[in-house]
Amino acid sequence: MSALLSLRSVSKTFGGLAAVKSLSLDVERGAIVSLIGPNGAGKSTVFNLITGIYAPTDGTISLDGRALNGMKPSAVAASGIMRTFQNIRLFAFMSVLDNVMVGRHVRMRAAVWDGAFHTPSARREESAVAQSAMQLLEFVGLRRYAHEWARNLPYGMQRRLEIARALAPEPSLLLLDEPAAGTNPAEKQALMDLVTSIRDRGVTVLLIEHDMRLVMGISDEIHVLDYGEKIAAGLPETVRRDPRVIEAYLGKGA
Ligand code: ADP
Ligand code: MG
Repeated sequence: MSALLSLRSVSKTFGGLAAVKSLSLDVERGAIVSLIGPNGAGKSTVFNLITGIYAPTDGTISLDGRALNGMKPSAVAASGIMRTFQNIRLFAFMSVLDNVMVGRHVRMRAAVWDGAFHTPSARREESAVAQSAMQLLEFVGLRRYAHEWARNLPYGMQRRLEIARALAPEPSLLLLDEPAAGTNPAEKQALMDLVTSIRDRGVTVLLIEHDMRLVMGISDEIHVLDYGEKIAAGLPETVRRDPRVIEAYLGKGA
């Protein structure tokens, strides 16, 4: 069976800087695949390429065998790829519930917002959306904060809310860009457990994390980037012992 997501010799240059160099990788359905590497390695750029924020300078990206090249971010989202950002992007002055409901509308587009609350059928649809949003909040452990403003949540919970919002359109592939960044060690571990339960729901996960130890226990496969180049890939135990990986993380002579 072919991979859900495939990158083939994907490159991206910004002016003279090669941020991603001829990267190939496959993400199999039902897997948790992690992309790790030092700051500036090109990890977030890979997400921006997959989601259509940037067009690759070279190479092809495909979902389920279908090329994504040239698609706008909204079309990529509609095809089943959702993401979170390294820096949280929530609607601060909207309720936690509304933040998730907005996520759901990625797939329904204009009609729902325009028609919301005006006709009985729009109201029914809206209440079904609210119900599934509540279920997602339950899933990420935020149900009791549904009617709080997003900005009032502590940081770790905002991270969870972003994940709930990204899950709302029922993506086949979820891209998580350092979901545990800025959280305390207990929250970090809880977020990694959440990633596992997302995979157990049937959502394939591509996870970016700076801290290699954090993803060791949950990843089926790890790809290591350094200066835009893949320097190692494979099972967590293999990658951890790779001398190039150790050098990239700890410097020469480590
Ligand atoms: P990572 O997420 O691994 O920390 P990034 O993908 O954010 O790394 O960045 C990789 C390299 O590409 C960095 O040198 C960064 O400065 C550069 N870069 C990323 N986006 C842009 C951009 N829009 N314009 C110019 N350079 C960029
Ligand atoms: Mg990044």
